Amino acid sequence: MDGAKVLYIEDNVENRTLVKRVLEVEGYVVLEADGGIDGLRIVREEAPDLVLIDINLPEIDGYEITTRLRQMEGLNDIPIVALTANVLKGDRERSLDAGCDGYIQKPIDVDLLPAQIAAFLRQARQQQNTI
Ligand code: MN
Repeated sequence: MDGAKVLYIEDNVENRTLVKRVLEVEGYVVLEADGGIDGLRIVREEAPDLVLIDINLPEIDGYEITTRLRQMEGLNDIPIVALTANVLKGDRERSLDAGCDGYIQKPIDVDLLPAQIAAFLRQARQQQNTI
């Protein structure tokens, strides 16, 4: 998945820096947004290959941002992966209901993250090829 463009929407700068570093080492291009409004704008401008979204965001939460992303014409098949610190089963279901393709639990395991992202990208490409 070299060169795949990943947008990470996250208000916590330490998480952003960590994820950016880990994924860039693996050859990903990482775009960052510190909130949902910025995130929506970057999706429109850059059409990333995958969106990684924090659920607990100020102003507009990750569920609502996901719902809005899913309504964007021509961009509604971008895989969206929720990052959730919520271990409650209901929160996972809620992220899937909002239109996420899956979720990764926080705290982020940097050893697992690249493979997790690669798997979501592979899955999305397979789905796009079968349509
Ligand atoms: Mn947050």
